[in-house]
Amino acid sequence: MQSFRLIKTTFFLVATGVLLGGCAEVADPEVNVYSSRKEALIKPVLDKFTAATGIKVNLVTGKDDALIERLKAEGAASPADVLITVDAGRLYRAKSYGLTQAVESDALQTAIPAAFRDPENHWFGLSLRARPIMYAKNRVNPNDLQNYASLTDEQWFGKVCIRSSENIYNQSLVASMVASLGTEAVANWAAGLVNNFARKPVGGDRDQIKAVAAGQCDVAVANTYYLFGMLQSGDPEQLAAAEQIGVFWPNQNDRGTHVNVSGIAVTKAAKNKEHAQQLLEFLAQDDTQSWYANVNGEYPVKAGIEAHPLLIKWGGFKKDALNLSKLGELNSEAVKIMDRAGWP
Ligand code: FE
Repeated sequence: MQSFRLIKTTFFLVATGVLLGGCAEVADPEVNVYSSRKEALIKPVLDKFTAATGIKVNLVTGKDDALIERLKAEGAASPADVLITVDAGRLYRAKSYGLTQAVESDALQTAIPAAFRDPENHWFGLSLRARPIMYAKNRVNPNDLQNYASLTDEQWFGKVCIRSSENIYNQSLVASMVASLGTEAVANWAAGLVNNFARKPVGGDRDQIKAVAAGQCDVAVANTYYLFGMLQSGDPEQLAAAEQIGVFWPNQNDRGTHVNVSGIAVTKAAKNKEHAQQLLEFLAQDDTQSWYANVNGEYPVKAGIEAHPLLIKWGGFKKDALNLSKLGELNSEAVKIMDRAGWP
């Protein structure tokens, strides 16, 4: 008798739970986000979105390529509505795997310059990163620097630090050069650059900057937010290293410095497409653009939004106006060139 009542009670509780769960799904709008940005760099702005719209955001963070693999494996059953990742080459890849869908939004078209979004509206840049040349202020006269191509000059023999060709940032840089100069010229350039390496590529962008500061090389190619991060780190050693580094904007007399984006896409599998679109539009608003760029040490993708004062100190610069989807289109060409040049 006792156990029968227990079973009945348990059944009642489970049934109520299922009902409530079912109701809750209908009652509480939500959007599921897969993000390669660290939680601290994205969560506050997602919280602001929830506060403004009442739409709950469920955040899953992970590594860029792992999240794309996860979306692929989950297919149509994926709970993800939105993918946030870095590098247009990777956003292009997600699109070419059929993991994204088009979002037709006047707000996004207006806020985000055409070069920084997919021509078919499958992904949109959220923030802009530049990949300039960085140099040792005490050893290099910036007047001796011109553009990426001139890093192969004899003057820089044994003095160039840059990370591995396995990294998509370099693949995208090389792809941008192919778009502008053609395969043959870039193949020659890559061979010349490898010839000028100070050492076999090791570590990430921050390690190249540190190597310049430590005197292992005179020049490096690195994304600006790493230098920003070192200056903001509060670690005296990193600060001291970063203070020895100058930022040189290459190719100012022709196509402009190579830039890339962190970006966002609505997944093909999205069950909450409308809420996802609302989130994209929220992230393109002026105040969010400013917050998002500043916390990441990047530039706002939207024109007319002021960058962080530290970035302003490095000066304005002409950006390569190439449509960033080209970086994806030319990715395999770039990888081939780097392989042949013996760029590890
Ligand atoms: Fe990075």
